[in-house]
Amino acid sequence: MQEEFFKSEKMKIVGDMAASVAHEIRNPLTTVRGFIQLLGTAELDSGKKDYYKRICFDELDRAELIITDYLSLAKPDPEVIESINLNDEVQYLANVLLTYANYNNIQINVALAEEQAPCVVGDRYKFRQAMVNIGKNAIEAMQGGGVLDLKTDKLNGQAVIVISDTGHGMTAEQMKRLGTPYYSTKEKGTGLGTMVSFGIIRKMSGKIDMKSELGKGTEFKLIFPNVA
Ligand code: ADP
Ligand code: MG
Repeated sequence: MQEEFFKSEKMKIVGDMAASVAHEIRNPLTTVRGFIQLLGTAELDSGKKDYYKRICFDELDRAELIITDYLSLAKPDPEVIESINLNDEVQYLANVLLTYANYNNIQINVALAEEQAPCVVGDRYKFRQAMVNIGKNAIEAMQGGGVLDLKTDKLNGQAVIVISDTGHGMTAEQMKRLGTPYYSTKEKGTGLGTMVSFGIIRKMSGKIDMKSELGKGTEFKLIFPNVA
């Protein structure tokens, strides 16, 4: 099963989504504000108090998740466009994901292109955010443990990075919805991670090749013009 993801119409540039994301963050904040007010004024038994507090924490967690998926690593504009060494970035990615992987009983394998490292052009921090979001999803798809493979390559003048997991995989229908805002199958998902990642990759003239098989795993192959 293979699907090519290069839907310029469907995937909006990240900035276009800012208003809608702000709205998603404002909702939990409004809820929390309301409950804090209630906690301060009403005569409440401790059971109710705990329940209201629980809601506050859940809503704050949700706001934090949205910020993490959407904004955390991105630097404020203007973007700094520079040459990015994919071997260095994959090493960085492996380090960033290591704790999360260990916690989930997942092994990370890194295989770097030899001789000359593949290089791409873009904003390093946005690129990192895209990679972290894809890597995070791969780990989250391997509930009972597994293997995360990170590879770089240089092929016909193109810079290639492959992120593959041995997780639960996706159906063709799920793959089609990937990258659209707020599509999530997770209980506490935001459905923003892939949308943001695909937007960043597309802006860097990158192409996304995806393969997935239910119960077997998923592979993201990202192909960029090489600039070394
Ligand atoms: P979230 O992670 O908050 O759910 P994302 O936009 O990052 O939002 O991902 C959207 C959905 O795509 C996920 O909920 C999951 O169902 C699916 N998905 C993404 N990456 C993978 C993967 N590597 N393996 C299986 N499913 C995936
Ligand atoms: Mg995600």
